[in-house]
Formats: sequence, C-alpha cells, structure tokens
Amino acid sequence: MIRSLLIANRGEIARRIIRTARGLGIRTIAVHSDVDAAMPFVREADTAVCIGPAPARESYLVQEKILAAARETGAEAIHPGYGFLSENAEFAEAVQAAGLVWVGAPPASIRAMGLKDAAKKLMVAAGVPVTPGYMGEDQSPERLQAEADAIGYPVLIKAVAGGGGKGMRKVDEPGVFADALASCRREASSSFGDDHVLIEKYILNPRHIEVQVFGDTHGQVVHLFERDCSLQRRHQKVIEEAPAPGMDDVTRAELCAAAVKAARAVDYVGAGTIEFIADGSGPLTPDRIWFMEMNTRLQVEHPVTEMITGQDLVEWQLRVASGEPLPKRQEELLISGWAMEARLYAENPATGFLPSTGPLAWLRFPGGIRVDAGVEEGGEVTPHYDPMIAKLIVHAESRRGAAARLAQACSEMQVWPVRTNAAFLARAAADEDFAAERIDTGFIERRADRLVPGADPLEPILQAAARALLPRNPADPWGTLTGFRANAAPDRRIAVEVANVLYLVDLKATGPAATTVEVAGEPVLFLSGEAWPFRQPVADHAGAGAGASDGAILAPMPGRVIAVEISAGEAVAKGQRLLVLEAMKMEQALLAPFDGIVEMLDAATGAQVSEGTLLARIAKGEG
Ligand code: ADP
Ligand code: ADP
Ligand code: MG
Repeated sequence: MIRSLLIANRGEIARRIIRTARGLGIRTIAVHSDVDAAMPFVREADTAVCIGPAPARESYLVQEKILAAARETGAEAIHPGYGFLSENAEFAEAVQAAGLVWVGAPPASIRAMGLKDAAKKLMVAAGVPVTPGYMGEDQSPERLQAEADAIGYPVLIKAVAGGGGKGMRKVDEPGVFADALASCRREASSSFGDDHVLIEKYILNPRHIEVQVFGDTHGQVVHLFERDCSLQRRHQKVIEEAPAPGMDDVTRAELCAAAVKAARAVDYVGAGTIEFIADGSGPLTPDRIWFMEMNTRLQVEHPVTEMITGQDLVEWQLRVASGEPLPKRQEELLISGWAMEARLYAENPATGFLPSTGPLAWLRFPGGIRVDAGVEEGGEVTPHYDPMIAKLIVHAESRRGAAARLAQACSEMQVWPVRTNAAFLARAAADEDFAAERIDTGFIERRADRLVPGADPLEPILQAAARALLPRNPADPWGTLTGFRANAAPDRRIAVEVANVLYLVDLKATGPAATTVEVAGEPVLFLSGEAWPFRQPVADHAGAGAGASDGAILAPMPGRVIAVEISAGEAVAKGQRLLVLEAMKMEQALLAPFDGIVEMLDAATGAQVSEGTLLARIAKGEG
C-alpha cells in the first residue's frame, strides 16, 4: 500500500479522499491556491503546499507546480479527484514518468475515451450499443446538416471534447441547424480548444443512467450497479440516486454487462463510469439504452453507489493503485436499499440560478445523514471555482423512504447570506412526479413553476416572520394569540419587514415552525430550505430616498392608500401605524420612525400615490 498521497484537487472531494487515506494510515498532502488557504481540506491534510493564485489555470491546473509539490513533500502517489486534471492523459503520464503512482485511469484509457466520437466508434467495435448518430471526419456544415436531416429531428450537436454539460445544442428543426452548429462550435473551441462535433439523435424523455465500473491491474473488471442521474438542469446533474427506478433484473444484468464490456475494451483500471442514455417514454428495456460516454475518473455522485453497496470507492482506488486486486468479486457485490444525493449549490433559483458568492456566516447541515461538504461556517464561497457547497446523501430501505429523507434534509438546510438551491432541492425530492418515478432530464424544466421558489416570500414565510416578532410571554408561548380567531381583527395584524419589504400579516393561530437566528446582528428565518432576512419594521426602510431620520413618510411603492390612522397634530409613538398602502394585493403599513408629532399629513383614504410620494412628516418630540 502507498504510504503518502498528494491530492491534486480542492473542496469536498479533497476532504473525501483525505478521510479514507487517513483511515488507511496514508500520509496526506494538500495543494491549494492562496484563496483556499483557510479551507478545511488544507487544514485536514498532514501537509499543505500553496501552488499559486486563485485562477485554476495558475494553480490547480498547473502540472509542473503539482509535480514540484509532490517532490518537495516526498509524496508517493497523486489522486486527481474529479474535474481539473483528472482526465488529462498527459498529466497522468507525467506523474508516472516522475516515478509516482497515479491514482486514476491508465493514460491510454483516458485517451481512448477522451473524445466522444472516438469513444463511440470504439464501443461500436466492442459490440456496445451507442446512441444513433453521425461521428464522422467530414465536419463541413453541409455534411453535418445532411446527416442531421437523415437522423431526423430533434438532434443533439455535441462537441467531441465537451464535458460538464457544455458544448451541446439541441436542434428541433432543420431551419435552425446552421446557427446552432456555429454557436456550438464557438463554445467548443473557447471551452475545450477543439471545435469538432458529432450529431446524435435526441432521445425523447431521456433518462441518464450510468454504471460504476472498477478494474484492477490483475485483469479483473467488475461493476457496482447503476445510478440514475436524470434530474438535471442545463445538462448538469442535480439529484442522483441508486439503483435506477424501474430497472428490472434482466435489464440491469444486460446494462451492467455492457458497461463491463466497455471498460474491458479500453483495458480499464481504477474507478470509471459508463454513461448511458435511456428512452424513458416506456419501461426500461435493454434495446432502448445506449452508450453515451465514459468518464475515466471518480464521479461526483459516487456516494450513492457507496451507500447501496457498503463499499468505500476511494479505498478501492487506493488499493488498486497500490497494485492490490479488487477488494470484492462480482458475486460478492449486492444492492442494499436506496440512496439519493442532492447537490447543494451556491446559487439563487429565484434569479434564474445566478451564482451566489460571499461569506458563509451561517451554515448548518442537517443531522443524521451523510454530508460531503467542502466548506464550513465562517468560510466563503468565492467566484473562482465550482459553486457546489456540499452533497447531501441519504440511504433508506425504499425509494420513497430515501426521497422523504432527502426532502427533509434539504428543507433543514440553513445557509446565510449566501443563497442556495436548498428549497428547490427539497421541493424536487418531495415532488409527486418524482415519487411516481416519472423522471427524465426534462423533469426540472417541466416542473419549474412548482420547484423554483418565488422572488417574494409566500404566506408561510410571512406568518413565521410575524410570529417571530410577537412579544413573548414566557408563561404563554403563543403570546397575544390566545383565543385568536380566523378573521383577525386589525390589532392582530403584525407589521413585518421581510427582505426589505413591508408586509401587514394577519396572524393565524397555528403556523409552520421556522427557525430564526441572528446572523451578524440581523434576524434571519429558515423554513423549508428557504432563508429570509426579516425585522421589526422601521419607517426608515420603507422610504425611498429620504429616510426616517428626517421623519418623512414616503410611499415605498406605487399603490393606493387604504387607511389613514392619524390626523395632523397628533402625537404618535415609535412603531405606531400611520398609514396603510395597498399595492399588488399586498398591504403595507407605514410606521412612525420615532416618537413625535404629525407635523404634516397629505394622504386621503382611496388616493392613488406614486412611489416616493411624501405622505406625512413626523417631527421628533413628545410622543
Ligand atoms: P459528474 O459526471 O461526476 O457528475 P460533471 O460532469 O458534472 O461530473 O463534472 C465533474 C466536475 O468536473 C465538475 O466540477 C465539472 O465542472 C468538471 N468538468 C467536467 N468536465 C470537464 C471538462 N471537460 N473540463 C473542465 N472541467 C470539467
Ligand atoms: P458531458 O460530457 O457534458 O457530460 P454527455 O454526453 O454525458 O456530456 O451528455 C450530458 C447530458 O446531456 C446527459 O446527461 C443527458 O442529459 C443529455 N444528453 C446527452 N446525449 C443525449 C441524447 N442523445 N438525447 C437526449 N439527451 C442527451
Ligand atoms: Mg456526461
């Protein structure tokens, strides 16, 4: 067994590898960029070497720096993780040429599977069914168009060097093929430095089903069953599970045998994944599942396979790289229960999934499940790398049990102020179509209305925020709610400000249990995976432009005045309701910013006002 290991990666996968290596008594060496210096994987490694500035092409992708760090620290082996240099054959060769052990696929296998067209041709020769399409040399637009026409629309144009869901264009009709081809080529050459493409039939109701394979240096190859990764957004996996729903034993046996055949065809050693596309418009059958590509590395979603087989795939990698035979024979591997994984990303679904960066001032993971995280509370999400915060992994007896556990785990996530897709994941895991196994790669887009939380807080959030602002009587946790009725009287209305917008909430007697915490002095509410800042309203925040410091009460938005509760000259107390506006069916109360006198009042019930209209002015003084 190797005795020391350099991990040429970062974040959760570096920590994941360190965990297993440590358990095997292997000394670990982290390499990191300067912005990553305080990350957990750097601290958890026995030794750490800074290899340059934040941009990956100046640090994590610089082969010489990584090899120099290995020399410096006396590392015996290098594990590349996933992404970065993991599927770079030249790097694998350089590692071996330096006399080090490469904990990855043989360079020749990486090359053979590196380009999608060559890989598919190889699979055809090996007798593995591939997605129908054109993968020829002639790359002229005319020829490609003619091939697409012959295949029949919709088709998919794919960059042969593509990866990570990039360099793909679905084309629905011949008229737009030329434009799609040009744009696909532009993206392919800028992202992968290679504008060669192939054309594939676009499989309707596509399901992404992949098989985990493993080879050793003694000529054995086994599979560890399949994973279903059909829940994708923009061709990127979001929720993965194992085994695949609706997979019968006969289909599984054929699929897994095809995967082993594919791996044998390239003399595969180590962890690999054969990705297939299945026609999900009917039951899964062997004749409607086709080879798509092979990933010659450990996959992001490897934990779901670990959960159903009880194996540690990183341990398998380290043993195989050390020259040991595979830890288990095929017949010793069995599926136990159901596992699911959700990728928690730093992104905001409400803004079209824009990435969200910044400090992780508050970060609490659900208990009782496996969490593979790269960051911790007090850390930061920087714009330099993949926005994945963590993988939430659950295991249960049944698929329904696993889905329920995953939905629960995602809804318990608490992150602030970085935004995440936790609520979106929770909704997806709890979705009725998901439960009914009606899944394909179009699921997320089809269900977007239900899955993506809105930009405005819904009633349960407002209820929870209002409840959190109730004066608490220790003897009566429901405070003023005793004897509360459905038709709330106006004095049961509570003004709350959620995400800088004022709401007047009619409190209900019972409501959802939200968690409220203070993050850097600001109250934040967590409910169902959502996170909302809220507070007791101060008129200050309601005004556009001039604030409450001068006592100006401005209309925060265009709307109609529905109540004027003060008169000129009247004394008011801080927080007292002055006026109520209605806009877009939402009532907004404007409150006194401080104790004082109504010096001026220019608002009448029923009046339509524009944003910023001066409605009243409070003069500081005796309340
Ligand atoms: P998986 O298939 O394991 O889910 P992905 O295809 O999403 O993984 O890729 C895993 C990681 O590798 C991601 O961080 C992704 O950004 C990165 N990656 C994948 N392919 C490439 C590529 N060709 N070039 C650069 N990074 C890639
Ligand atoms: P990448 O290297 O980016 O992972 P893949 O070839 O694995 O590229 O395809 C990524 C995703 O695109 C698949 O998981 C699937 O959702 C979709 N896809 C790929 N090929 C097809 C196809 N022929 N028909 C329908 N969807 C496809
Ligand atoms: Mg793929």
